[in-house]
Parts: sequence; C-alpha cells; structure tokens
Amino acid sequence: MSTIFSKIIAKEIPADIVYEDDLILAFRDIAPQAPTHILIIPKREIATANDVTAEDEAALGRLFAVAAKIAADEGIAESGYRLIVNCNEHGGQEVFHLHMHLLGGRSLGPMLARK
Ligand code: 5GP
Repeated sequence: MSTIFSKIIAKEIPADIVYEDDLILAFRDIAPQAPTHILIIPKREIATANDVTAEDEAALGRLFAVAAKIAADEGIAESGYRLIVNCNEHGGQEVFHLHMHLLGGRSLGPMLARK
C-alpha cells in the first residue's frame, strides 16, 4: 500500500527537498526532532527493513553516500549526527516506506530512550 512518501516522490504534495537523483529522494522532516532532521528514502517503495532484497543494494548503498553529502552540506559532518532506520512496531516505524533519518545540529544524547 502506498504511503505519503509516494506522493512526495510524485510531487503530488509539497516537501522541502534537499536532494534528488534517479534512486533517492531526501527532504526535511515535517516534525523535526533536531536542528537538522532529514529523511532519505529510496524511490522504490520498500515497506520496511524486513523487505529489503538484493535488488535494493544499489539504492540502499547510495542512501549512505547521500547522507554523508547532506551532512557535509548542512555543516554537521564534523560535529556529528545520527542515522536511524526504524522497523515495525517496536522500532517505532510510522510510515511504511523505508527511510533513513539524518539527525544532527545538537548533541543527541543516549542512543535509546530509557524506559
Ligand atoms: P518513522 O517513525 O516512520 O521512522 O518516521 C516517519 C517520519 O516521517 C516522522 O519523523 C514524521 O515526522 C515524518 N513525516 C510524516 N509525514 C510526513 C510528511 O507528510 N512530510 C514530511 N516531510 N515528513 C513526514
């Protein structure tokens, strides 16, 4: 089933796009949790990390290259940042189109919230 991210890829709804190529789109999160909060997504619809196959290797490898480029563009490469991919309920995934969060611009604290 398609998600809101398919509509963003198709430019049917607006987004603050920071990068686009044939395989990848990156845009600012609508509810940022840090000064830089960008979502980097494969254009191919992959629901979750569980659904990744060998044919996705090129796109998912490029996610990291694009993340590094965006981090440099945002001026946070040296100070540091966090890349997150949430999967399903326990991972806190809300949009079922695989995406990488790029968060930075402040100290992000411990990796996981304490229960
Ligand atoms: P998840 O919890 O699935 O890992 O993250 C989904 C992210 O998508 C959330 O951080 C949420 O704020 C963001 N998001 C949801 N809908 C939209 C939208 O329509 N536009 C943008 N730019 N971000 C969205």
